[in-house]
Amino acid sequence: MQALIQKLARDRNLDNDELLYLLENIGRPEHESDRNTLFFAARACSQQTFGNRIYIRGLIEFTNYCKNNCYYCGIRAGNPAASRYRLTCEDILASCREGYRLGLHTFVLQGGEDPGRSHQEIRDIVSAIRQEFPDCAITLSIGEHSFEAYKMWFDAGADRFLLRHETADNTHYRQLHPQPLSLDHRKECLWNLKRIGYQTGTGFMVGSPGQTAGHILKDLRFIKELSPQMIGIGPFIPHKDTPLAYAPAGTLEQTLILIAILRLMHPAALIPATTALGTIAPDGREQGILCGANVVMPNLSPANVRKKYMLYDNKLSDGAEAAENLAALERRFAAIDYKIDFGRGDHPGFKK
Ligand code: SF4
Repeated sequence: MQALIQKLARDRNLDNDELLYLLENIGRPEHESDRNTLFFAARACSQQTFGNRIYIRGLIEFTNYCKNNCYYCGIRAGNPAASRYRLTCEDILASCREGYRLGLHTFVLQGGEDPGRSHQEIRDIVSAIRQEFPDCAITLSIGEHSFEAYKMWFDAGADRFLLRHETADNTHYRQLHPQPLSLDHRKECLWNLKRIGYQTGTGFMVGSPGQTAGHILKDLRFIKELSPQMIGIGPFIPHKDTPLAYAPAGTLEQTLILIAILRLMHPAALIPATTALGTIAPDGREQGILCGANVVMPNLSPANVRKKYMLYDNKLSDGAEAAENLAALERRFAAIDYKIDFGRGDHPGFKK
């Protein structure tokens, strides 16, 4: 196991058999010291590129309407218990102003695939942010759309796009997503985003229902092939009003192992310590950073809507998770010898 970890750290890759062996075995109790070796190597790799600085993004959850019905998602169209909202362009700009005042230089606009908002309206929102905050990065995380729509938003000033593929196995994809969603289309969107020039992010849920080590191997292979600038993974956490309400959650440890493996495979990638990680363990974010993550995304949405963007049960949106509480976040980072970096935090290889 030690030799495999060293090979992964040196070559940034393993062959399929080696990777599968690592995935199937490193979580076993007898491999605790191997896990520590893996985590240490991933942390050293992250520090080599990014030092002890953590990029910070202001997350604005601007609509919880969605036309889709992903079986795991609390804001799926088929959940009548979700209390719906849609922020206006002025609401979004007000959140950006507050974020800018706090020192943030990336705004992440996240939302469902909202049928009530046209591509042109999204373009106008991006343009308005770009005009008022020329020194900030704009990230979109709004699902699957046409090449033309992605291009229009890019030309309006968007820099980055997050679109998790969730699983790179077709059968598993269908267990998590009903028709008409398809893995092929999701992948096509990701390749289009890269072609247009976005800093592109993908990723998957860890411990989602039905997930096997073989599926994760396919995820790692797809991510290697796509070579995205951002990789977001977090534990699956069930939501009580979804078809997967009774499925067990993914674990902190499995997520940390995968963050560390991904860091070693992608030394320069932007890898967040996600809100889901902070939700399953009080120090989940810090542990994610110590395993190679280098980004956090505190919530910058207006306070009155934060509880409505409930993708999974008990999702954090206050305390150190709230953008207005950066001092608390700074204290938590200082305790593990890290600092917030208030810059745009582009991928090291990025040129627009
Ligand atoms: S996961 Fe995304 S696309 Fe699927 S239902 Fe939720 S918001 Fe919509």
